[in-house]
Amino acid sequence: SKNNQGNYEVTLIPGDGIGPEISRSVKQIFAAAKVPIEWEEVDVTPIIKDGKTAIPDNAIESVRKNTVALKGPLATPIGKGHVSLNLTLRRTFNLYANVRPCRSIVGYKTPYENVDTVLIRENTEGEYSGIEHEVVDGVVQSIKLITKEASERVARYAFTYAQQVGRDRVTAVHKANIMKLADGLFLDVCKQVSKDFPNIKFNDILLDRACLHITQDPNIYADTVMVMPNLYGDILSDMCAGLIGGLGLTPSGNIGRDASIFEAVHGTAPDIAGQDKANPTALLLSGIMMLRHMRLYAEADNIERAVLTTIAEGKTLTGDLGGHSTNTQYTEAVIKKLSSA
Ligand code: ATP
Ligand code: MG
Repeated sequence: SKNNQGNYEVTLIPGDGIGPEISRSVKQIFAAAKVPIEWEEVDVTPIIKDGKTAIPDNAIESVRKNTVALKGPLATPIGKGHVSLNLTLRRTFNLYANVRPCRSIVGYKTPYENVDTVLIRENTEGEYSGIEHEVVDGVVQSIKLITKEASERVARYAFTYAQQVGRDRVTAVHKANIMKLADGLFLDVCKQVSKDFPNIKFNDILLDRACLHITQDPNIYADTVMVMPNLYGDILSDMCAGLIGGLGLTPSGNIGRDASIFEAVHGTAPDIAGQDKANPTALLLSGIMMLRHMRLYAEADNIERAVLTTIAEGKTLTGDLGGHSTNTQYTEAVIKKLSSA
């Protein structure tokens, strides 16, 4: 929603560890690029409510009202009775699709070049439905739940996303040869949904074959959006992140019915927190995904170009990329590259 000044209000959850430093960097770069966003900053440090840990109400309210949020990494509370905050956010806002683009960054050398994959993971059911029981001693069942509704929701989003980012194909990744009913349903629903998107091609591939192909030549998947059930997406998205050099530069988006939350894939990095050493790029790229989600394409392109050229030049890199610059210096370098600056 827009406020009186014509700015979009967006919730910012700075997070823990390096979260506040990298969030500050994103705010500075977005401000320099004149992004029409007003941040509503909220703290999600858990509180005790009815004897259980919970996210403060004002944080939930802010995300519910603004429907878009950028989130820094959160420390996972240790100990019994502490539910992961990420899980709480996912349940609260029905975050049904996890979007992970993995694109090689010029100037950051990895074994693969020109990787450009997009993976969308169903995020609410499948192998992670949490339905498990012991049948008799030594025999357990774990239920993989696939519904038409959740499959259709994530499939529809995959096609919409493909349209939005200009990819001309959606690929369903599955094991319908083995799990004929469960993955069969997922695949059928994807096929059905594809009929509503005549401009987007559709194909499908077995998960094992997809792993083989991607590690042989990731370029095969450069024009498509892969969509798949929960477990496959969990594993394959980390594999794709590995192709571009790990989680440090990987953004993600959690798309939901009631809100969408964008976040870096890395954690709180307590070893370097508070030292101005953190690389804000993953959170920045998540912010760029968020801008495209909000259809602020020009602003997204401008910031993305500035980030990628700064890294490609290799003069102002943080320690994780082999450089000697601080987060502050890197942030300034990116700002200098913005076309509006
Ligand atoms: P958490 O428990 O929150 O996941 P962690 O100890 O697992 O934290 P990660 O954040 O997952 O740590 O990071 C693993 C390693 O990568 C650490 O050495 C950390 O310093 C480094 N790292 C992670 N993110 C960044 C970043 N944005 N910039 C620089 N280094 C990072
Ligand atoms: Mg970690």
